[in-house]
Amino acid sequence: MTERRSPEDLLSVADRGELDLAGASAEDLIAWAAQEFGDRVIATQSMVNAALSTLIAIVAPDIPVVFVDTGYHFAETMETLERVRTQTGLTIVSVSSPLSVEEQSEQFGPDLWSRNPDLCCSIRKVRPLEAVLAGHNAWLTGLRRGTVGTVRDTRTIAYDSKKNIVKISPLLDWSDTDLAAFAAEHAVEINPMVSQGFPSIGCRPCTRPVVPGEDSRSGRWSGFDKTECGIHR
Ligand code: SF4
Repeated sequence: MTERRSPEDLLSVADRGELDLAGASAEDLIAWAAQEFGDRVIATQSMVNAALSTLIAIVAPDIPVVFVDTGYHFAETMETLERVRTQTGLTIVSVSSPLSVEEQSEQFGPDLWSRNPDLCCSIRKVRPLEAVLAGHNAWLTGLRRGTVGTVRDTRTIAYDSKKNIVKISPLLDWSDTDLAAFAAEHAVEINPMVSQGFPSIGCRPCTRPVVPGEDSRSGRWSGFDKTECGIHR
């Protein structure tokens, strides 16, 4: 395996990449990540749509893709995951908390999400993801500007000092129209809930449909002053 690089090196690579690849296509950004980071780049894929996985399958299918399985996903999300595996041919690895949903309930009481969603997200999403990112120099995300979790993401390539990793978001500037055009051209798998009023899909207890005119993010953690799971902090 290639070496784990120093924070200074990763910061320098991110700054140089952000300048050199300004305006580059998503395909070019993924190809750059594969060349620059070799076997130390990893991608994460939520199962709202599989645009990132589809691009990786086309450009750099050796990049490993992970899905964070919280144990609370909708059946439609898990079915989408299986279809994406089949359609892309990628080995998508599911990662999850060492604490099962039942063990979490025993330790913290039932329905932790209803009392302390930050702690629940930390246990079920953030820590499992950070554990898998820890051995890598770069992280490809499917973030798009204006969607959940992008409040702090203004750069396509940035050094994340908290996670000590270069974070690359090839779809950051894609509009809904861009996504729809790519999805139509490449038969991208899309979670069927998207067309049923769920533009943003997380865990079952913390996701509700939105009505026309509502912010697409308002269906997440409804009733809480919480807009992101903490993965992108
Ligand atoms: Fe828990 Fe809700 Fe976060 Fe899922 S989205 S990990 S159920 S708090």
